[in-house]
Amino acid sequence: MPNHAPATPEQEQGSFAAVLPGDEVPAIRLRGLRKHFGQVHAVDGVDLDIPSGEFFSMLGPSGSGKTTVLRMIAGFELPTGGTIALHGRDVSRLAPFDRDVNTVFQDYALFPHMNVRQNVEYGLRVKRVPKARRRERAAEALSTVRLEEYGERKPTELSGGQRQRVALARALVNRPKVLLLDEPLGALDLKLRHTMQTELKQIQRDVGITFIFVTHDQDEALTMSDRIAVFNAGRIEQVGTPVEVYERPATAFVAGFVGTSNLLSGRGAETVIGKPGVYSIRPEKIRIDGELSQAARSGETSATGTITDLIYAGATVRYEVALDAGGQLSVVRQNSSEPGEFADGRVRLSWRHEHNFRVTPPDSPHAKGQS
Ligand code: ATP
Repeated sequence: MPNHAPATPEQEQGSFAAVLPGDEVPAIRLRGLRKHFGQVHAVDGVDLDIPSGEFFSMLGPSGSGKTTVLRMIAGFELPTGGTIALHGRDVSRLAPFDRDVNTVFQDYALFPHMNVRQNVEYGLRVKRVPKARRRERAAEALSTVRLEEYGERKPTELSGGQRQRVALARALVNRPKVLLLDEPLGALDLKLRHTMQTELKQIQRDVGITFIFVTHDQDEALTMSDRIAVFNAGRIEQVGTPVEVYERPATAFVAGFVGTSNLLSGRGAETVIGKPGVYSIRPEKIRIDGELSQAARSGETSATGTITDLIYAGATVRYEVALDAGGQLSVVRQNSSEPGEFADGRVRLSWRHEHNFRVTPPDSPHAKGQS
């Protein structure tokens, strides 16, 4: 389970534990990793340690460099600068097959003319593992992904989720120390994707190897990961548990990319919070009442404002509120509203002080650094 530690004291910044303290040898150690494609700085100085056995996600928008980092770990791209160590061994310049990693791609890349078992056995055949041993290990890998009955089928006779599991079995059969997964659920419909998220996490727990998972889907990263690195423009903005990056975002970028951006700054921050700076407040932490309701309770921040928009989303409703003090906040609450509630549009918003989280402003270039 991720670490559900309580929030740090009010207005402290988020953690940034990209690099392990002490002598522990991690599964993956990246130092000063860079990749330039001509003028494009796809990866621009990444320092990161990933301990053995973690389900680690690299999360970020399209083009932020996460796939390029994964491809460099796999050996499909050579770094422009910096180093990659796998379990303490520098592999920066080694060919992919000389590294103890396997990759699962979004498009599965199964061989269509081979049946499922042959697909799974393929890596072992290349390594000249004897037939009986191959069979045994393929059966074991298929059982891990719960496809033991499907060995004789062709990939075309499987559903998307099953094909994805074959791709996983094909990687697991090699017993890599590290498994790299590049948006492996990207081709699945939403429902199947949710099922596979749970399954993948369970399989990772069962086999206990390090999973490095690339995704641009914040829900997926929050649901599955032990820790997450949030990428922006070729660098890491923050590394932390799902709770840390969501509850205590280090930068305005992280606050906006992981969850809904809800920032107070300038005059709004000074008046409402009482200090200058940029603050992130999660929309679901804010209570919304009529303007004339009780002013702030002890330990709470409070502000009055006018509803400018109401977005209906079935189970929840989102209110956009322009604060009298300046600034705009979104508030999400369960759809339990009474008809005619907030008819005049005037409201009071309240939230606990510890939900004011100070972040690095959006235009400050990587102010959290890479240590
Ligand atoms: P996505 O989620 O869309 O896959 P990403 O975060 O994984 O995005 P990368 O694929 O790592 O991003 O790409 C980072 C940047 O490097 C992008 O600007 C991309 O266009 C560029 N890039 C990646 N591969 C190459 C290449 N072979 N040649 C030139 N530019 C490249």
